[in-house]
Amino acid sequence: MPKIVYCSFCKRPIKPGEGVMYVRVDGTIERYCSSKCFKSAVKLHRNPRKTKWVVKST
Ligand SMILES: [Zn+2]
Repeated sequence: MPKIVYCSFCKRPIKPGEGVMYVRVDGTIERYCSSKCFKSAVKLHRNPRKTKWVVKST
């Protein structure tokens, strides 16, 4: 049974088979719900707290 994974950027739950899996050089596995989150985190190095469309988890 696949466990629920959450987007490393916007913290939204990702359905099995969806999203992007990214492995950093240091071995850290990160999951992103969409290419939008992937690009924001990996290519643009955005801070989720400073990104307007990210739902705040308070
Ligand atoms: Zn996301």
